[in-house]
Amino acid sequence: MPENVIIIGSGPAGWAAAIYTARANLNPLVLEGDGTSEKNRQQGTIPLGQLSLTLEVENYPGFPNGDTRAYLKSALPEEALPYWVQANKPQPSHGINGPELMELMRQQAKNFGTRIESKDVVKVDFSKRPFKLTTHDDQVYEAQSVIIATGARANYLGLPSEDRFKNRGVSACAVCDGALPRFRNKPLLVVGGGDTAVEEANYLTKFASEVTMLIRRDVLRASKIMQKRAFDNPKIKIRYHSVLEEVLGDDKNGVTAIRIKNVQTNALEDYACSGLFLAIGHTPNTGFLDGQITLNPQGYIQWTTVARTYTNVEGVFAAGDVADDYYRQAISAAGTGCMAALDAERYLAHHG
Ligand code: FAD
Repeated sequence: MPENVIIIGSGPAGWAAAIYTARANLNPLVLEGDGTSEKNRQQGTIPLGQLSLTLEVENYPGFPNGDTRAYLKSALPEEALPYWVQANKPQPSHGINGPELMELMRQQAKNFGTRIESKDVVKVDFSKRPFKLTTHDDQVYEAQSVIIATGARANYLGLPSEDRFKNRGVSACAVCDGALPRFRNKPLLVVGGGDTAVEEANYLTKFASEVTMLIRRDVLRASKIMQKRAFDNPKIKIRYHSVLEEVLGDDKNGVTAIRIKNVQTNALEDYACSGLFLAIGHTPNTGFLDGQITLNPQGYIQWTTVARTYTNVEGVFAAGDVADDYYRQAISAAGTGCMAALDAERYLAHHG
């Protein structure tokens, strides 16, 4: 028997869709991704989604005063605990940590009867119903409707030092992290020269003492209107012909400086700052769709109707960052997850 609905992905969009479809008695199956395989991880599988990569989520409604100490102590080895837990200091910010929030969402979906399998979808056949989904272990699943919630991954430069300081000053999301105490009234650095980079830099000037943009060439790639925004903002400084060589810091303070290389002279300089924001794009996790769903020019799934989560294939819906290159927030992903569930429910009511 085909499933009523299969949800692909285990971020906020996937779990919101699961909670709604489970409560609608659709008995959903979530294929949450297989985080144990390096190959799968490189293609975008992050068990529990992107939020599981951050310890500080301050903007997801419902968690005003969280102290996540107890959870962190139970989940992490002593040496990996944040400095404020190790030193028994007050939690620097409010909210909830990402892995805990995602575990709660997963648990909530499970409590309503969602079935979960830790598998990656590697192939789909959407040519006719029931739709067929093949997972990395060659198992084939059939479904009357599908919700794709496979998210996107932020692009990083790939330096080991960048990796070391993720969550300790290195971020790929100004809206998510810019207001954190560690960045307030401190100099920050943004890598990237497109519209998003200027937008992120502008946003960061609300909190930072100054924001420096690193640009490899002698011009900004951003549109003229965005360039003007950068030039007009007295807190934004632009360094041309410059690339990031290394992220510097220590375990206690996180990022303390960025080593910058001038590509014309090869000269190195250490620029003291507290944060590095990467704004070099995102990669949506759509490779497994292999052309069967219409994507926009940036590779994101194209919603076909305003305020609906329909794709070009009837019965296949998309939710979250995989179809949203604009908002890219947990709350908006969860919102479209809810919408996709309601769209699928109505679709199944008419098409069985
Ligand atoms: P994701 O969270 O990306 O989840 C996608 C899921 O799909 C993953 O579980 C993945 O394993 C799975 N998947 C991918 N491919 C396959 C496949 N082929 N088969 C099966 N499963 C697959 N937002 C905020 O609102 N507040 C914040 O503070 C915040 N901080 C952030 C910090 C960091 C470091 C990052 C990277 C992002 C942050 N964001 C924050 C953004 C937020 O995490 C995303 O907007 C949100 O997670 C998107 O949810 P999603 O469900 O669409 O996708």
